[in-house]
Amino acid sequence: MSEVTMDKIVSLCRRRGFIFQSSEIYGGLNGAYDYGPLGVQLKNNIRDLWWKEMTQLHDNIVGLDASILMHSRVWEASGHVSNFTDPMVDCKQCKSRFRADQIDLNAPCPVCGNRGTFTAPRNFNLMFATHIGADVDAASTIYLRPETAQGIYVDFKNVVSSSRVKVPFGITQVGKSFRNEITTKNFIFRSCEFEQMEMQWFCKPGTDEQWFPYWREQRMNFYVNKLGIHPEHLRWHQHGPDELAFYAKDAYDIQFLFPMGWQELEGVHSRTDYDLTQHQKFSGKDMTYLDPETNEKYIPYVVETSAGLTRNVLMALSDAYDEEQVEEGDVRTVLHFHPLVAPVTVAVLPLVKKDGLAEYASKLEHELRDEFVTFYDQSAAIGRRYRRQDEIGTPYCVTVDYDTLTDNTVTLRFRDSMEQVRVPVSELVATIKKATKEYKRV
Ligand SMILES: [Zn+2]
Repeated sequence: MSEVTMDKIVSLCRRRGFIFQSSEIYGGLNGAYDYGPLGVQLKNNIRDLWWKEMTQLHDNIVGLDASILMHSRVWEASGHVSNFTDPMVDCKQCKSRFRADQIDLNAPCPVCGNRGTFTAPRNFNLMFATHIGADVDAASTIYLRPETAQGIYVDFKNVVSSSRVKVPFGITQVGKSFRNEITTKNFIFRSCEFEQMEMQWFCKPGTDEQWFPYWREQRMNFYVNKLGIHPEHLRWHQHGPDELAFYAKDAYDIQFLFPMGWQELEGVHSRTDYDLTQHQKFSGKDMTYLDPETNEKYIPYVVETSAGLTRNVLMALSDAYDEEQVEEGDVRTVLHFHPLVAPVTVAVLPLVKKDGLAEYASKLEHELRDEFVTFYDQSAAIGRRYRRQDEIGTPYCVTVDYDTLTDNTVTLRFRDSMEQVRVPVSELVATIKKATKEYKRV
């Protein structure tokens, strides 16, 4: 095992087309990133595994895709307009801006080194404001959503009346959120535009105390068993009294050991009836639930599981990254992705281009496309092509050689062990699927 640094991850991501700085040819835009050909596939794979886990594999969970632009009253009700702020200071000398809670106000400015040049701290709202319609005035101000949760709360009654769901049930949503972070850092960990994967679980008041530990266990299991993350890189952090929102009953974060240290990956929070009650107050609409069996009327309690999809991508990359000594003086860079997470599942490689091997391999690659994300590569020596696939985390390489032409068998190479086995082409799909099912993280 080698040390995983953020520089190594950033460099690999750029070199191999996982993640680029946004608007790079114009000098880049801070806190914004583009997902390249491999990055978008990696992100989609994680999103799809999460969606399947949180809807298909659970009872009573339905999906939603709410609009990014919402009525500005939503954010008054949620408290974001008045409270979603960071204390900011500016250096009067060099005009640099800092979060007051992240620097020592008595120390010299970290940028220009002058002393006593900071302005008094003032609150800065993290929501991106824009205007809807032709008039640019206070009445037309709306916000890019800073979280996806509120879209679920405001549609709570619509879902209940249209989907025959009964409490307890959940609503899932994956989507982009926006925060005007002044200090963006650690690559995609804290960016202005990011993606969330959230589930809000509506339950009868009192039963939240059973559901809260249930969902904590479910969510930790997902990372270990479905995404194949090292259990020793994951831990729980319970919010102390100073971190807990005033309405929250209890809150835990799943933290991951990122290259810069332990940081939040997902929050599992017991939010009581706070959000629905606020929306009832601000909208004047009835947000209660009528139990069809007992005729009890109440505002449900909410347990939320709120994960960062873009943080999941950074986690998958850092957890998978390794530089391994293969032979004396020979080091390979490898991403040990779970096969279901890897952006390319199978690479098909002809040993040489000539004598019909390339044609055979290309045809085979086309046939595999229906089952797997595939990649065809016929350039350079076979050893170099294996290394190129190791570096992007492709779990299986299939090599077509001269024997293939006579007996229809191929070499199947496994990324982690570098073991090679001979497999009949007719059994290739089944063999790869079996290996994926039985995959154990090294
Ligand atoms: Zn300064």
